[in-house]
Amino acid sequence: MSKKKDRKKLKKARVALAAGEEGSGVVEKTVQPPPIGSAQQEAPPPIEGPARAMVIMAHPDDAEFVCGGTVAKWCAEGWDVFYVVVTGGDKGTHDEAMHPEKLAAIREEEQRAACRRLGVKECILLGYPDGFTVDEHELRGQIVRLLRLYRPDVVITWDAFRRGFNHRDHRNIGTVTADAIYPLVRDRLFYPRDEEDGLAAHQVNEVLLVGSDDPDYTVDITDHWLTKVDAIVCHASQVGGRTKEDFIKQREEAVAKDGEKPIEEKFRRWSIRRPMRQTKDEEKTDGEVKAPETALERQKPQKATA
Ligand SMILES: [Zn+2]
Repeated sequence: MSKKKDRKKLKKARVALAAGEEGSGVVEKTVQPPPIGSAQQEAPPPIEGPARAMVIMAHPDDAEFVCGGTVAKWCAEGWDVFYVVVTGGDKGTHDEAMHPEKLAAIREEEQRAACRRLGVKECILLGYPDGFTVDEHELRGQIVRLLRLYRPDVVITWDAFRRGFNHRDHRNIGTVTADAIYPLVRDRLFYPRDEEDGLAAHQVNEVLLVGSDDPDYTVDITDHWLTKVDAIVCHASQVGGRTKEDFIKQREEAVAKDGEKPIEEKFRRWSIRRPMRQTKDEEKTDGEVKAPETALERQKPQKATA
């Protein structure tokens, strides 16, 4: 075939591609799925438990402010909730006499106290320096390993994709966690040492993102708001002397001004909605699942204590 004929054929194929036509010999018509979030897609049902959840945050106190009511509600309903806090929050002060190591130790105790108040089962602090997280292989592998170890159905983390101002640690933890959830934790050949250590691949079924531009999922925390406040004031180094009574007074003023409204926490939801791999694993082994505690004794990071 001449070069001229070749060019003519190529041009025809490009036109067909643009028009989505069949029969060019080069292009095959494909059926486009409806866009995510379109009216054609059925809204997923509300997330109901009791289930197993993991809250993966950048700093001590992040979780209490953004999802403390949801955590309190789930714990009250019998969920197993685990925390992973990636940094020590060791830069969060205006106190000129404070040192990073001392602040990290204070904030660790504050975070553990908040977890006890909420009913969180276990709090794992990875101890990275505040403000220096990077979206990288090692941290991603640590998150994958913790997901395979604790096997949560639901994960709450930061929305890395918001358009405006964002803290670099929030952005990086959001990205690392999203990548860990899909596809890394699900596919056994990623981070194969986990499998060698007896940690099977896992699938997270629901992800709730905090700090999102476009929240589409709401949890009514009215009945658990006081527990959330109790947990927030555990972070004494971060609340500028505010007490539980101050939060209650602020709430009463808002009610007096705008009337009684439900108190809500809002999220962007990713619903993966596939059969749970964990269930399949359980069936394969006749219900005998490797207890997280067994692996935990060997795998638990140094600082992980309840
Ligand atoms: Zn933060």
